[in-house]
Amino acid sequence: MKLIFIGPPGSGKGTQAKRLAVRHEIPHISTGDMLREAIADGTELGRQAAPIMAQGALVSDDLMVGIIRDRMAKSDAVKGFILDGFPRTVVQAEKLDGIVGNGSDPLRVLQLLVPDEAIVKRISLRRTCAGCGAIYHLENNPPAVDSLCDRCGAEVIARPDDNETAVRTRLEAFHRQTLPVATFYKAKNVLREVDGIGPVDEVFERIEKSLV
Ligand code: ADP
Ligand code: ZN
Repeated sequence: MKLIFIGPPGSGKGTQAKRLAVRHEIPHISTGDMLREAIADGTELGRQAAPIMAQGALVSDDLMVGIIRDRMAKSDAVKGFILDGFPRTVVQAEKLDGIVGNGSDPLRVLQLLVPDEAIVKRISLRRTCAGCGAIYHLENNPPAVDSLCDRCGAEVIARPDDNETAVRTRLEAFHRQTLPVATFYKAKNVLREVDGIGPVDEVFERIEKSLV
């Protein structure tokens, strides 16, 4: 299965993509996670991406396409993958075609629908593990022990780009630059839309159903 996830920030893409990857035994490729790792490791890429991400703006297409090209060349991506956070612009979508477009498995694209009003509220309660990237929600899915990750015990914090100003910028980037990507795939008849409102398990069931 070669699956692309599209959805606004805070739509639950990351949470759902991680589950799907486990269920279908294919790698979850999150460009956001890869960039955050680069920042944590202090690499040149991380140094370039950090200020852009903190603002909520998009990293350049050239940089992102290079990252994906390298990642897709690894052997675990041959069987299939779930792309979370890429492509985020039409230019990226066109470039992706050139990277994975001619395999036997067609690309499938899933768009999670969540209205803007729900986003800002969700993200303000989102917390992320600084160690393993696990995602929590202070109301719906809090860590068992205050501020500590259930899985790895590291500290659970708010992402630096989860502040209100950056969230608004991210939403704007989504509308202006990423929604056209959904239109791009709709025209190719590979887009499926799934309602992203409701408990994580319910949304997961909807996603699974939409994929059969
Ligand atoms: P979210 O979907 O919740 O906004 P992500 O973790 O997917 O968060 O991405 C965080 C940030 O990483 C983005 O706001 C952007 O700055 C950068 N980023 C991730 N993927 C891309 C991409 N494909 N193109 C450009 N920037 C990206
Ligand atoms: Zn953790």
